[in-house]
Amino acid sequence: MDRILKIPIENELDMSLAYRKSKDAAKLLNLSISSQTTFATAVSEISREIIDKATDGLLELNISAAEEKYSLVAKFTYLEVLTLDRSEGIMYASKLVPHFDKHKIGDMHTLNLSVKIPSFVRIDREKVRNVRFYFESVEEKSPYELLLEKNYELSEINERTELELHTANYIINQKNEFLSVASHELKTPLTILKGLTQLALRSSERQDVAPFLVKINTQVQKLQDLITRLLDISKSETDKLDYNFEQLELNNFLTDLEILLKNLVPAHNFELITEDVPVFINCDRLRLEQVINNLIGNAAKYSSENTTIVLTVKTTENGYVNLSVKDQGIGMNKNDLEKVFEKFYRISEVKSQVAGLGIGLYVSSRIVNDHQGKIWAESSIGEGSIFHISLPYISYFTEKAHI
Ligand code: ADP
Repeated sequence: MDRILKIPIENELDMSLAYRKSKDAAKLLNLSISSQTTFATAVSEISREIIDKATDGLLELNISAAEEKYSLVAKFTYLEVLTLDRSEGIMYASKLVPHFDKHKIGDMHTLNLSVKIPSFVRIDREKVRNVRFYFESVEEKSPYELLLEKNYELSEINERTELELHTANYIINQKNEFLSVASHELKTPLTILKGLTQLALRSSERQDVAPFLVKINTQVQKLQDLITRLLDISKSETDKLDYNFEQLELNNFLTDLEILLKNLVPAHNFELITEDVPVFINCDRLRLEQVINNLIGNAAKYSSENTTIVLTVKTTENGYVNLSVKDQGIGMNKNDLEKVFEKFYRISEVKSQVAGLGIGLYVSSRIVNDHQGKIWAESSIGEGSIFHISLPYISYFTEKAHI
């Protein structure tokens, strides 16, 4: 269908405009004088009913083609307030113009009136363009039409601005929320650090100092992790995380990390399952550690104490090695599963209960992608979660003798 013009159908002025324009269109397409009048009368009858009984009315005049036969079609769309079916104007219009059909998509009603264009009128793209051009540029516009056009332009600008404002507000809100949580998270370990340091300083016997220093160390580590994550956000904004790629044997790397991982989740049972065969990957070891820390930290954060967290490593036939972190925690629904890798996304139910920034998984997914890998999760509410990473391996030996 080629549209030649559109008119809002909201008041009496629109109705007379609809009458005049549909008559002009019929004339330009060489319809007989009686067809011009019946078509325009039917259009104005329907317009009247829409003005009385509906809202958001719009008329489009189109030229449609079916099997080389062309028709002039008046397409009305509107939202019904009162029922239009069987109203006087509609019945009358359907008698004037025999090709008349109605349908409904959602709440929006559509009504098409069409008259056939005689075969001696040569219609092609050029002709359609000319008719449209006539209405856009040649025909002199009434002040009301000029006002309507201006109105259209303004409402389009308005819609665009509203959308931009909405997006900007959303980002500002997210950033504000993030800043308040981030500063809170920074303050907590700092306050503890200060208290412990003062205790350590006051302590006179050397052996009493050691446990405090251990705790200080843990808090410093937390602070460092947090600052790394904060820096990662600003780096990820400008699209560059730093990497130091090297060839690394994954199972040894994880076995060396096991003690640290156990310390990361002291209230949980942590298990590492590897395949006991060397798998070499090309990766940045600190970044990989960051991803694993994040997944295991989350597994502990979103599950009860004394439950089990398992990190399993498994090579696949297609050149990838899979690392999966399984917990017995609160789980999440399908909708959240798709969103947890987005920046700042946190599941609303946990926001008030568990501290977090909503950036760990986002940064992890960036890191895994930059390693040509994939990250995804499986979960359901109350049944725990499994987070998977798959990374391409360079080589993998099935027998220890090959090392
Ligand atoms: P954070 O944990 O700091 O909020 P993340 O980006 O690491 O940020 O995680 C995003 C969100 O995904 C979390 O807020 C949480 O709602 C959900 N989530 C992450 N890991 C798990 C998990 N193992 N079990 C249940 N929910 C999780």
